Amino acid sequence: MSLQVNLRLLEKGILHLDGDIPASELAPEFHDELMRLVHPVEYDLEVERQPDGLLVTGTLRTHVDCECARCLKPFVLPIRVDDLSRLALLEAVDGGDADEVLPVDGDFADLTPVVREDILLALPTNPLCSPNCRGLAPKGVARGSQVREQAGPNTAWSALDKLKL
Ligand SMILES: [Zn+2]
Repeated sequence: MSLQVNLRLLEKGILHLDGDIPASELAPEFHDELMRLVHPVEYDLEVERQPDGLLVTGTLRTHVDCECARCLKPFVLPIRVDDLSRLALLEAVDGGDADEVLPVDGDFADLTPVVREDILLALPTNPLCSPNCRGLAPKGVARGSQVREQAGPNTAWSALDKLKL
């Protein structure tokens, strides 16, 4: 179900909407080498009728499956939009950008484009597993991973030794 708001109800006052929208419905055309939108986006919105459109405010929440741009490690990045505030037009304005007009079907306007835009704006250009990720070792990667493999069991054994004591 897409994120629809009843325009007749809006004439009577502010509407509160919450729920979630599947990623497949929100941004099916989204493609990025390092980020995948696969989790639903939770929304908690207030919608208010304005003379020329709908004022949408509230919060959005989701998480994104990422690969670190530096070390290529997969990680999950939480995305929050805490201060969404957008005036979405219901009709094209002269000289305005047609993309900003909400799709309207009968008495219902679809707010999906507003949520999509704010989520996409909240995504990082380069997702990083941590702000100080040092990335892959510039050289000797194979040797580095060998060292790590050796370190693994050793650490495990020393932990076991401590337990025995
Ligand atoms: Zn990283």
